[in-house]
Amino acid sequence: MHGFRSATAIVILAFPLPLAGPAGAQDLDAIAKAMGVGKVETLHYIGSGTFWAVGQSYRPGEPWPRFNMVRATRAFDLKQDVFVNDFVVTQGENPPRGGGQQPVIGEQRRASGIAGDKAWIVMGAFTMATSRFQPTLRHDYWTSPHALVKAALTDQSKLTPAEAGATFEVTRAGRWKARVFVGKANLVERVESWVDSPVLGDMAVVTTYGAYKDFGGVMAPTRIQQSAGGHPVLDFTASEVKINGGGITAPTAIREAPEQVKVDRAAEGVWFVAGGSHHSAAVEMRDHVILFECPLGDGRTQAVIEAVKKTIPGKPIRFAVNTHHHFDHAGGLRACAAEGAAIVTHAMNKPYFEQAYAAPRTLEPDALARSGKKAEFVTFEDKHVLSDGARTLELHLVKDNAHNAGLIVGYLPKEKILIVADAFSPREPITAVPARLNPFTTNLWANLQQLKLDVDTVIPIHGRMVKVEELRLAAGAK
Ligand SMILES: [Zn+2]
Repeated sequence: MHGFRSATAIVILAFPLPLAGPAGAQDLDAIAKAMGVGKVETLHYIGSGTFWAVGQSYRPGEPWPRFNMVRATRAFDLKQDVFVNDFVVTQGENPPRGGGQQPVIGEQRRASGIAGDKAWIVMGAFTMATSRFQPTLRHDYWTSPHALVKAALTDQSKLTPAEAGATFEVTRAGRWKARVFVGKANLVERVESWVDSPVLGDMAVVTTYGAYKDFGGVMAPTRIQQSAGGHPVLDFTASEVKINGGGITAPTAIREAPEQVKVDRAAEGVWFVAGGSHHSAAVEMRDHVILFECPLGDGRTQAVIEAVKKTIPGKPIRFAVNTHHHFDHAGGLRACAAEGAAIVTHAMNKPYFEQAYAAPRTLEPDALARSGKKAEFVTFEDKHVLSDGARTLELHLVKDNAHNAGLIVGYLPKEKILIVADAFSPREPITAVPARLNPFTTNLWANLQQLKLDVDTVIPIHGRMVKVEELRLAAGAK
């Protein structure tokens, strides 16, 4: 089927034919009219389905981990440019495998939204601004069928005949671009778009809008399927679509605070670089600095680099250690490479990063893209030692940890400090063995025993710096 379609496309390219006869004439006004764009102020898609967490695969290159979306509302306000995504998830991968806040215990609400350029995310009782998800939320709003046609009308986009329909393009420089396929029924059926990812660069997204139904003169799709970075991210079926139901509000006072970086001394020459959702650690060597974890993207990591330079003046950051390839933990590596640091990562990640870094970065070129430099890698399998003779940082693979196949921890033998991401994140004080043990934490503890690491203090990438006793309790160990 696919091969046949490709062959047909080649014939059409070679012998251009007028595809749209008089009865099938397509223009933006006809598309807007068919979809009822002029009648829509708000749209609520209510339903269920599946989503996958981008950048959180167990192993680089594998599909993103899957979650069940048991109830979901995707609400659009096309007058105010507001998009609210509010859903209830349950664990999809059994046993848990990969990131995206696994394991989900029971049902968990997740919500996020965007109003104009202000994006937010709901974390339990708190609503906070998010720069991390702002580009994709904005992209998801603008690549929804009715918003896209509105944008095309504003731009007066040109319609190009295509096999069984027509295409048009919409571009927002520095943000996203989309190529839109409209079928013969004048409905948006497929969108190929690109949005910036700190790891993948111009990340390709493909969205199909199917099973359109008429809701009082407004045509809306009841099946939405999306892939991003080559793997599925959404399969949503609407059981109900409400037109002009109103009631979509953005939280007030969602202002992005400037990056907070709080540097605490963990030991002589060892610093806990905290203050954000994802922390780092800095290790001072004789003539250079090792930065352990470069999270999120240029914004966070550049603020961390500045703070480290102030704390340890006059020494270059020579190594940037990456705990695992998950995009929230690897998104700032390119900022470190632009700074001249070599990326120290598990061997399985190098081909993946190299391929990703070779992709175009035209939407939001980051510091490395602008510098013209190339990232350098230092890789290892089970163990790697960085030492200047006086201070030593060991890196160990955490074997068989279901969070990530290439998860590594840092260990400073003299200081008895362990640096760990995601397998142990002590946010609240841990004073007793939890009722339900986290499999990522129990595996971490087993690895520490196997490696015979003598740990006194734990620097976590999420949470508080703690004594090892809290880790021991969290792992349910004697
Ligand atoms: Zn992770």
